Amino acid sequence: MADQPDMDISSDCRGLSTSLTDDQVNTLKALGVSVATINSNTTHDERQRVFEDMLCGHPSTRLLYVTPELCQTDNFRRRLLIVHKQGQLIRVAIDEAHCISEWGHDFRPAYKELGWFRRNLVDPTVPITALTATATPRVRSDMINILGLDLENLRLFNTPSDRPNIHYEVRYLADFAGDNNSAEESQLQNLLRWLNGIKTRREARLGGGVALLPPISGIVYVGTRAMAEHLASRLSHSSDEMVTAVAYHAGVEATKRAHIQSTWKSCRPFQLVDGEKTPAFSIIVATNAFGMGIDNPDVRFVVHWTPPRSFESFVQESGRAGRDGRAAASLVYYGIQERNFIETMIHRDTESHRAKGPENREAKLESFGKVIRYCESISRCRHELIKEFFGDSELEEMGSQLPAREGMSVTSSSPCDFACDFCKEGPAGLAKRREKMASETQMALLYADFD
Ligand SMILES: [Zn+2]
Repeated sequence: MADQPDMDISSDCRGLSTSLTDDQVNTLKALGVSVATINSNTTHDERQRVFEDMLCGHPSTRLLYVTPELCQTDNFRRRLLIVHKQGQLIRVAIDEAHCISEWGHDFRPAYKELGWFRRNLVDPTVPITALTATATPRVRSDMINILGLDLENLRLFNTPSDRPNIHYEVRYLADFAGDNNSAEESQLQNLLRWLNGIKTRREARLGGGVALLPPISGIVYVGTRAMAEHLASRLSHSSDEMVTAVAYHAGVEATKRAHIQSTWKSCRPFQLVDGEKTPAFSIIVATNAFGMGIDNPDVRFVVHWTPPRSFESFVQESGRAGRDGRAAASLVYYGIQERNFIETMIHRDTESHRAKGPENREAKLESFGKVIRYCESISRCRHELIKEFFGDSELEEMGSQLPAREGMSVTSSSPCDFACDFCKEGPAGLAKRREKMASETQMALLYADFD
């Protein structure tokens, strides 16, 4: 398939959700769980087998994955009611439940119809679990209202949105007045210098033993498929064998994607640079298609080559670093040109998807507004900004039954211990770095609202 301009980057993961469901189903099967799925990849025969099993009164399938679109059909609903009458439906779980809200960054109309469960699965009432990694208070209220959840019996659990072990940093890009080649070269050299610094410190710490260690894993998120290919190639060829990088997006063939994932998870480099030497870094250069269902605990850094289009995506994507609880880093490259470009794209995309409603358009612009404020602020700790933008304290007020774990607070007090560029460099240091992004006059106009 020819590469698309793919500027509607929010859509690059849509084609992948089915194969990700298949991945989860296969993993569960390997663990001995009796699981099945009905989706667009399911053959007619398999579909019939699953439906027959469902209705037999004592189904062997204990966990069934379906799409919200299937749940809208009369046919499926009729079958579900029979399973319920037979006493075989014990729980409904809705993953990515933020898609229910037009205020969410990823609204999907079929989710809105899931309120059917609460209205129809009664006598006895079937428990409903709604899960999301990215719900602001407004989205959470929508989830509760649209699903018709009973506040009396509702249990809420939430963890803080920021991650104490992640060092958050914004890198400001100089204005190259439309000279894209020089801009890219400068940014590439900046990233390579940063990586080289990590490599040098690691070698100083570990000495000769470093050669025996697997490469350090990282993700670089880019805006388009073409950029993923281009940057992966440049990183591999410009780094003097320090980096192996590979592109990952929805246009990469499924078997190749699976191979990339398994190589990356096993901490092996994608290719050995000179036949023997292990490179210091193994990097996936990806669109937002990379992430869902991927669980690699030892990712040490996540770089956003361009600012993410929504604050929710930023938190989710940067949160893929340091899942093992060890120190990790989030870098966002930020420049005025890219900021203006993304704003234009959001306007264009929301105009062409009017069916999703004005709230969704406003939500998208509001969410990108938070990205802008996060990046342009030089007066606040970035951990605090993340929690504020996600409404962590409001979520706590709505109630949470999550027990506090040792070393992990569920309150909104700042966990930042020099773990962001503001707390490390201070406002003056940040201001100095931000200055190179634009001329003084532009700056006065641009930042008037934010400081
Ligand atoms: Zn801080």
